[in-house]
Amino acid sequence: MNKHSCKDCGIINCKNQDKKYPKFCPTKDLTDDEIIEIEKLYNEDNNREISRISAEIEDEFYCKYTRVEEIIEFAKRMKMNKIGIAACVGLFEESRIFAKILTKHNFEVYSVACKVGSMNKTEITGLDESKTKVTGNVMCNPILQAKILNDEKTDLNVIIGLCVGHDSLFYKYSDALCTTLVTKDKVLAHNPAGALYQSNTYYKKLLND
Ligand code: SF4
Repeated sequence: MNKHSCKDCGIINCKNQDKKYPKFCPTKDLTDDEIIEIEKLYNEDNNREISRISAEIEDEFYCKYTRVEEIIEFAKRMKMNKIGIAACVGLFEESRIFAKILTKHNFEVYSVACKVGSMNKTEITGLDESKTKVTGNVMCNPILQAKILNDEKTDLNVIIGLCVGHDSLFYKYSDALCTTLVTKDKVLAHNPAGALYQSNTYYKKLLND
């Protein structure tokens, strides 16, 4: 059984601060020591600056800036110079356009395609060759993508359409801060929230046992 958690909350008092917290609320149970611990983490590295700049951009450009513009604004305010792009070859054209936009905004750009290294999927992953008929036997290589961008000493890495799991490995091995411009959804034109919006109708099947 799932424990009660924020998904079960109808109050959202952490945002509104005008009612009582529910019994299972993790905000309600926070001790002073735990709050101090979290505050300390915001003082580490440049976490406070990242947090402040994100909040400033949210406030100043709320419902005005696209995500492309938000990323540019974030990188500028963070005084970042070199942007890495970890791109899926299925969204290569989009990654080129993004690189062009970044260049226009005076960023240095280095992009790495997901198939970099051209390594053999069955050899590295142990996957049966019969399972490579649709997508081929050249593996997506998020660890190498991250390592190359680490060597390039990028200030920020932007993910464009890496598959689920591949993106996880990229986040795991990237030295630089990461953000995602495009979250891949091969069925929903890269709008994964579409399945949630339609879960009462066309995607009802997702809620079936
Ligand atoms: S933190 Fe507490 S108040 Fe906020 S959504 Fe979760 S349960 Fe609700």
